Amino acid sequence: MKLLEERIRKDGSVKAGGVLKVDSFLNHQIDVDLFNEMGKEFKRLFADRPINKILTIEASGIGIACIVAQHFGVPVVFAKKAKSINLDGEVYSTKIESFTHQRVYDVIVSKKFLSADDHVLIVDDFLANGCAVDGLIDLIRSAGATVEGVGIAIEKGFQEGGKRIRGKGLRVESLAIIEQMDDVTGEITFREQA
Ligand code: 5GP
Repeated sequence: MKLLEERIRKDGSVKAGGVLKVDSFLNHQIDVDLFNEMGKEFKRLFADRPINKILTIEASGIGIACIVAQHFGVPVVFAKKAKSINLDGEVYSTKIESFTHQRVYDVIVSKKFLSADDHVLIVDDFLANGCAVDGLIDLIRSAGATVEGVGIAIEKGFQEGGKRIRGKGLRVESLAIIEQMDDVTGEITFREQA
């Protein structure tokens, strides 16, 4: 999506350790008009899928997921990072290793909000090693629900997540895929997409 690529070039900054900072429009301050264009694009890309729910993970996925959900006319569920986990049978749970915080979280979704008849689109801001998406897939499968696809704002194509998750036969649509980025020059190269 050219609009997003242009915005990343203009306002994104490349940090050491393969981290892209997009705080001015996506991760801290939010450009709602841009999110709306992204929501429209996800709706176009997944128009053929019978999606009845969007699943994301707190915190940074929630904003995008809400706007995507408006385009699909469906609710959003966000997986919560649990501090202490009470496995009382009321929740589905999994473990997710955070790329940015380098720690492992227990992540939960209430059984009230995911069930076997759900057809779910996973939405998140970034795809890096794919741990967050793996965890969300795990939650959906625990509920016996169907993963209809994965919609990502920014995929870092030089990390393994995208390849691995597509390798499972899942449809992953990323609005911008970064092939390379250089924290010294700040240069960013995007993968050409159809
Ligand atoms: P993964 O689980 O795929 O390794 O990482 C995805 C999660 O880590 C996303 O939910 C996102 O919040 C965070 N993340 C990964 N890479 C970046 C990055 O380069 N910049 C920012 N801002 N967040 C990232």
